[in-house]
This record gives sequence, C-alpha cells and structure tokens, in this order.
Amino acid sequence: MNFRYGEEQLLVRDTVRDFVRTRIVPNADAWNEAGEFPLALLPELATLGLTGLAVPAEYGGAALDSVSIALVMEELGAGDGSIALTLAAHNSLCIGHLLVAASDEQKERWLPPLARGDHLGCWALTEPSSGSDAAAVQSRARCDGDAYVISGTKQFITNGGLAGFAVVLAATGERTLTAFGIARGTTGFRAGRREEKMGLHASDTTQLILAGCRVPAGDRIGAEGTAFDDVKKVLDRGRIGIAALATGLGRASVEIATRYAKERTQFGRPIAEFEMIQWKLAKARTELDAARLLVHRAAALADAGRPFSNAASKAKLYASEAATRAADASLQVLGGYGYLRDFAVERHLRDARLMEIGEGTSEVQRIVIARDLLRAS
Ligand SMILES: Cc1cc2nc3c(=O)[nH]c(=O)nc-3n(C[C@H](O)[C@H](O)[C@H](O)COP(=O)(O)OP(=O)(O)OC[C@H]3O[C@@H](n4cnc5c(N)ncnc54)[C@H](O)[C@@H]3O)c2cc1C
Repeated sequence: MNFRYGEEQLLVRDTVRDFVRTRIVPNADAWNEAGEFPLALLPELATLGLTGLAVPAEYGGAALDSVSIALVMEELGAGDGSIALTLAAHNSLCIGHLLVAASDEQKERWLPPLARGDHLGCWALTEPSSGSDAAAVQSRARCDGDAYVISGTKQFITNGGLAGFAVVLAATGERTLTAFGIARGTTGFRAGRREEKMGLHASDTTQLILAGCRVPAGDRIGAEGTAFDDVKKVLDRGRIGIAALATGLGRASVEIATRYAKERTQFGRPIAEFEMIQWKLAKARTELDAARLLVHRAAALADAGRPFSNAASKAKLYASEAATRAADASLQVLGGYGYLRDFAVERHLRDARLMEIGEGTSEVQRIVIARDLLRAS
C-alpha cells in the first residue's frame, strides 16, 4: 500500500483546507444558527470544483480520484458537517447515481449544470416506512404511454427543499426499483415537511412528495427494475465520503480540545499535563488515524478498480463511531465550556452522530461485513 499522496492530491487538500479555514469555519456557527444552507456560497464551492468532484472534465467536473475526494471530504467535515453533508449528497449520491447508471445523453443534459453549481442535486431513496430495508419502497412508478406516473413520499432527503434536480427511486414491481431524474418544478413533484434535526442545522432535510408526477420515459435512469444494483454501487462510494467527513469532524474536535488543554489551567497547571486528559486525546487521535487509513484503503481500492464494498463498510462503521467518540472525549476535555456553543465541539458531536445512521446504519455495515466474513470462511 502506498502511504504517500501525489502532489496534485496534496494541492487539492491544501486548497480546500485553506478555503475551509477562511470561508467556512468563521461562518459555520451563523449558518447553523440560521438553520439554512447558505446558497450564496454555492458559486464559491463550484469555483473550487466542489460541486463536481468526480464528474469527468468533458462534463465540466473536477474529475478527482477517490483518494482526493476522501481528502476533500475530510477537510470539509473539519469545517462544518452541514456544508460537507450537503456536498456529499450532491456529489456522491445524486451525481454518483448518474455516473453509475445514466446514459451518455442524460449525462450531457444533467451533469454540466450540477457540476457548475447552477443548482444542487439530491437523491431520494428512503421513505417513511422503508429505511434500512431499501428495496421495500412504497412509491410506485407506472408506465403510461411514453411516460411514467410516480406517486409516493420520500423521507429524510438531504437538499430536498433546495435541489434543482433529484434522482428518485420508485418501485416498478415487488421489491424492484427503477430510478428517475426529475427537475424541480415538474408538475406533481414538490418538497414536503422540513425536518428539525439534532444537528446539521445548515443542511436541508425534507420529505419529497410525488403526486401523480409524470416523468418522460427518457428520464428513466438505467433499465427498468435494475436500480437496486445501482443503489448499492452508489452507497459503496457514498460511504467512503461519509467516513472521510466523519474523520474530519473528529479531527476538528480533537484539535480544539488539544489547544484548550494547553491553555486551561487547574490546580496550578495546564490540564494538558494531567494524564487522564492526555489519555483521552491520544486515544481519539489514534482512532482517527486508524479511521483515515480505512477510508483511504477503501478509496485506493476504488481507484484501482478493485472490489471495495466491504472496505467501504468497514471505513464507514469505524470512522463514524470513532468520530462520535472523539468529539465526545473532546467535549469532556473542555469541561463545562465544551457544553456551551462557544466552542464548535458540541456542534461537531451533534453532527457526527448522523454519520452512524445515514447511508446505512452501523448495524447495516456490520451485517455487510459479517456476511462477507461468513461467506469467505
Ligand atoms: C439527516 C439525514 C439525512 C439523510 N439523507 C438522506 C438522503 O439524502 N437520501 C436518502 O434516501 N436517505 C437519507 N437519509 C435516510 C437514512 O439513510 C436512513 O435514516 C437510514 O438508512 C436508516 O433508515 P431508518 O431511519 O428508516 O431506520 P430503520 O431502517 O427503521 O432502522 C431503525 C433501527 O433498526 C436497525 N435495523 C434495521 N434493520 C436491521 C437489521 N436487519 N438488523 C439489525 N438492526 C437493524 C437500524 O440499524 C436502526 O438502528 C437521511 C437520514 C437523516 C437522518
């Protein structure tokens, strides 16, 4: 395994790190307080290529490899979970599905405006009654002449209220999914209830309502009934991104706690001199380094064109749980001040918790890992 990054990968990472330091960190509290994604930031994100991370250059994207994308997602996570999750849903899920399954004609129509950041994208799989059991969606798409008529409700959709374009999964048979590209403003398609969340307050999460929404057959993505296989491929890559994002949230928490421990004195000494404080910081830092190695292994396998589904599940499982532990330990290092909004640690802790749930819960990752383990032995 190569433990050295290429010059271009480091340039991408450092450019995003600098942007996060100057544009995201100073504003993240205000954006989260306002409870809205700052749409005015979108052109800046697009200029840096962050709205078309994996999109080939011919469609106007940054054409980054998976390791570079992991580096980018960690930096964004270290700045603000909401901005990072917004871009994860846009890039890994919405654009990710198009890269996996859309025709060349559809890519030409849909990818350039997404990559340019003309609008955000979203990806709608989950429903009120189907989460982990993703094949059980109740939304129905019925073929009607040269179109499909789709009805149903999607739940927990990141960017649902903002997106100009959605990839929507609907059933076209018993546990058989088909994907569709639907533009905002299409008759019978609208955002529903906006969810109030524990964290990620500047990330938009809504229901999507499809009420007899008529979609041209030419906007079906992939063959009818084959989308579940595409969903699995999309989620495999998405999980690497969520794991990297989580690593960033944990890293930022530990950085704050480390600075604080050196400045805060109790009993006449900086608390950094107390062994129990050092133990917390050392444990968290080690776990995050391990998380990053798992993330980059999965990304390197993906870049090498080798199977990476199992590695992505391990990275997502470990990194998300390590991030929560790291943010929680960091909060404890700050004592009562950690519980205040004055420091970003409490926000990172609330944001990190979602990474154990979205794009497959920790339980689902354990199922994937155990299934492969038992099959192999
Ligand atoms: C903020 C946020 C953003 C999201 N963004 C999107 C998005 O953009 N697009 C999208 O489609 N979805 C999105 N989701 C949905 C997310 O992917 C689901 O919440 C997740 O997959 C879990 O589904 P569920 O919430 O229905 O939980 P359930 O599937 O009902 O699970 C409940 C509990 O049961 C456990 N469980 C379920 N099955 C098993 C099993 N076989 N064995 C053991 N335990 C099991 C789960 O692990 C969990 O602990 C988002 C969710 C949130 C909260």
